[in-house]
This record gives sequence, C-alpha cells and structure tokens, in this order.
Amino acid sequence: MTFPVELPGNTSAEQLEQWLSASGFTRVHAEREISTPIGPHKLLDVVADRFRIQTTEKVRVIEAIETALKRGGGRLNVYVPHGAGGDSAGPPQAEPAPSGGSVVHEVTSVGASKQPDEMWRFSTGLHCPDSDTRYTDPTPSLFSFNSAMGACETCRGFGRVIGVDYGLVIPNDKLTLRAGAIKVMQTPAWKEAQDDLMRHAETAGIPRDTPWYKLTPEQQGWVINGSPSWNGKWNQHWFGIKRFFAYLESKAYKMHIRVLLSKYRSYTPCETCGGARLKLESLLWRLGSREAADAVLPSSQRFMPVGVQWSRAQLEALPGLCLHDLMRLPIDRLQQFFASLSLAAAGDDAEQKAQFPAGPSQGGISPLGGQRSTRSDKRGGFEVAV
Ligand SMILES: [Zn+2]
Repeated sequence: MTFPVELPGNTSAEQLEQWLSASGFTRVHAEREISTPIGPHKLLDVVADRFRIQTTEKVRVIEAIETALKRGGGRLNVYVPHGAGGDSAGPPQAEPAPSGGSVVHEVTSVGASKQPDEMWRFSTGLHCPDSDTRYTDPTPSLFSFNSAMGACETCRGFGRVIGVDYGLVIPNDKLTLRAGAIKVMQTPAWKEAQDDLMRHAETAGIPRDTPWYKLTPEQQGWVINGSPSWNGKWNQHWFGIKRFFAYLESKAYKMHIRVLLSKYRSYTPCETCGGARLKLESLLWRLGSREAADAVLPSSQRFMPVGVQWSRAQLEALPGLCLHDLMRLPIDRLQQFFASLSLAAAGDDAEQKAQFPAGPSQGGISPLGGQRSTRSDKRGGFEVAV
C-alpha cells in the first residue's frame, strides 16, 4: 500500500533518503518522472505498509489506509504483486521497523522483464483516481445561472447569444442552391461567394438543383460548415456559410457590413451550454433516483449536457435528473418530483454525480466510502439551491 509523493526533479538520492527517514518511511516502491508547469518532477510511490490482506488484522489495514491518504494528499495506490493470491509469491508479511536502517529502493523500471504489479488507484473527495479529474465541491452558487460560479461563460447565464440565424440566411427552404437558397449571397457584392458555392458543390457532389429542405442533413451541413477538407485556402475548398459570416464579423467595423450582419443575426441558443445557462460542471450533478426521474420525464427527453462524451444510452441509464431537466419540467411534475425525494435518498443520489466518463473504474472506487459522509452539509446546500 503506497502513497504518491511529488518531489522536485533535481532531488538527489541523499536528499530523498533524508526526506524519507525524517518522515518515518523507508521504502519506495516505484518512481516516475512527470512533467509539471514548473519543470519535471519525481513522483514516488512510498510504501505505507506491506501485508497479505487475508492474514492481516483489520486495524493495521485501516491504519495503513489512513496514513497513506493523509501523506498522499488523499491518494493511495495499492500494488498487487502477480500471484498474490497464491502462497508462493506473496510479499513479506511485515515491514521492518522504520528505524531499521537505510532506505530500500524497489523501483519498478519500465520495460523490466519481471511482470509489473497490478496497481489499484484510490482517492478521496470528488476525484477520479484513474483519469485524475478533480471536481470542485458543490456550493449553492454553482447551481445558479445568476452567479458567475454557475453561469455558462459564453452566454453568461442567458442561454442565448447573438449569432447567425440560419432561418434568416435561408428564409425559403424550397429554393435550390442555384436558385439562391442562401439569401445573403444573392447580391452583386457577394456573387463571387455564390459562384464559389456552385463550383465546389459540383465537385463535392452536392445537388445544386434540389430544394434546400430536400437536401440531407449532411449535405446541408456541408453548405453551412464548409468542406471537411477545408485547409484555410478560400479558393481551394468550400469555406461554408459559417466562415463567410466569421469573415464578415472581422470586417464589422465597416458600416455597410454591420448593416448587412444585422439582417441575419438574432438571439440563437448558446452552443456552449446548449441553452442550459449553466457550466458543464453544474450539469454533471443529478438529483433523485431513477424511479423518481422516470415518473416525471421520459428518459428520451433528458438533456444531454454539451461537452460530455456519453452516448444517449449512457445518459438514459443515469439516475436522476440534471438541473436543466428540472428547469424545463412543468410545475406540477416538478412538485411531484420533489415530493418523491426524501432528503437522505436525494443525498445519496446527488452524490453519485455524473457517472464519470472514465466509466469502468467508477464502480469500483468505493472502499473509501467513509469519506463521503463528511460532505453531507454541502449537499444540504444543494437541496436549498434547487
Ligand atoms: Zn451558454
């Protein structure tokens, strides 16, 4: 059972030995270099204790866990030797007394012929030990779009931004590309852009004589977003309407461009938060059980937070609802939802947070459950915030 210790990259072997013996530890199980913003650092896995779990008293194991978490800043790595389950290859039963002499290095070097030990990572708090993602502790303001803590940074909690309104750019979806479906390019001033569109559409096999509404989403996406092989050269590939407007924006200091832009702009849903008005971190929290959620909102209608890497099926398998789901519920169903929550149950479910995208590990990282109870006061805040 080890805990990670980070030391400056230039720490000498003697300094390390001094540091270890001053702290009362004598063994380093593994050592690796990591890069940090302030230069390379050494990361040591210092041995807190070594034992065979079946034959070790519970109190010793607990003490080792507590020591490792305390010394490792809430992190703990367990090295499980291969064949540890059998009798032959187990580690020594007991650690020599810390005062017993010189430091023992057991550095596992990469590429060593010996099969490396299996490592189980654990950590406390809202932290995934495998992906090393840390989530901040929740506060009421994290769940409010009226607070800088919770509000989406792009739309500042408004949920919408001034942007290009494609309903205004393509006001008549019965027109074909050739007949001028893209309204903004139909004036003599932008004829060149229309010509570019015709030319590149032909090359890309995009129908030029099919009404806009009959084009496939992929074909419409090509027109709006430009060629997937766009390389920055305006004459080589279709730049797309989006880039066309970005170009106009860059010229918005000219009066006539500003006037032109104003005709095609309106408030559109914020793409960063998907209109949810909150930062992604707030939307990772879910409230309530699966049953409570199913009773008020079909899983197919639940909000997929922008920026997560979940499949639709993963989202629908999660318990509870996110805050944006709650905001969109009619008041009677919202009332029903909250009536079905008991405080204790709500706490346990909120605790599960988003099932972290790192998936496979999250189910297994529960032995440190004792840590969880310390945050109940903050969860209380979450209830109030909602
Ligand atoms: Zn936003």
